[in-house]
Amino acid sequence: MHTTTKTISIGNVNIGGPNFTVIAGPCSIESFEQTSTTAAWVFQHGATILRGGIYKLRTNPSSFQGLGSEAFAIIKNIKASTGMPFVTEISDPRQLEDLNEISDMYQVGSRNMHNYALLKELGHTQKPILLKRGFCATIEEWILAARYITDAGNPNVIFCERGIRTFETATRNTLDLSAVAVLKQRTDLPVVVDPSHGTGVRTLVTPMALAAAAAGADGIMVEVHPQPKEALSDGFQALTFEDFEILIKKLKPLLAAIERPLLSKGPA
Ligand code: PEP
Ligand code: MN
Repeated sequence: MHTTTKTISIGNVNIGGPNFTVIAGPCSIESFEQTSTTAAWVFQHGATILRGGIYKLRTNPSSFQGLGSEAFAIIKNIKASTGMPFVTEISDPRQLEDLNEISDMYQVGSRNMHNYALLKELGHTQKPILLKRGFCATIEEWILAARYITDAGNPNVIFCERGIRTFETATRNTLDLSAVAVLKQRTDLPVVVDPSHGTGVRTLVTPMALAAAAAGADGIMVEVHPQPKEALSDGFQALTFEDFEILIKKLKPLLAAIERPLLSKGPA
């Protein structure tokens, strides 16, 4: 049983230790306007790390695949104005050179948790890695996937529970919050929960984010969009700006009750 969680620095922000960290942003970077307004809002209300997909892994090859390199200038600009560290998914080691400059943490998506060549390559960097759970992976397989990174020399791994595939159809995935408690007993690495992909339903994101905090997660990652109906990916699960504000308002007393300060850099 591990009683302390390791603290990992992502740019000027820590995940792990006593703090609770909120990662927020759009599913995909779509435009400067869309991402900059979202970043400003979530930063103002308590998020400290910005998320956003650039190279999207979509189930349907006809779906929006992300802006790719067109997103780089957008992210550089927003990082310079907000100072927020940025996390984006890396799906291929060939993206390392480009993403190294703009990404403060690399996300390994659910579909790539078993991509051991990618994991080993990321193990040769020192960047923090947000390792999402494979949607059909057991916790044991997930821990072993993390070891591909740590054994290759990079100790900076953060687990991200994002739901698993079950027979249930009311939600997009089944968010396995018991994984948080299991990981806390079996590793000293931080654990973040993604209730956006974990439920796939906007109105379920806030209740499950609160449940994640109560279960002992070190943070959450949520999708936010200025106009979810217009989103090019995952609009059905994106929080509106108002939803995000309400989520943080509800989160604060809960975190106070469990004595975990919200790591907030915004003025809110
Ligand atoms: C994402 O976070 O944008 C994403 C695609 O998540 P997952 O890999 O969990 O499906
Ligand atoms: Mn998404």
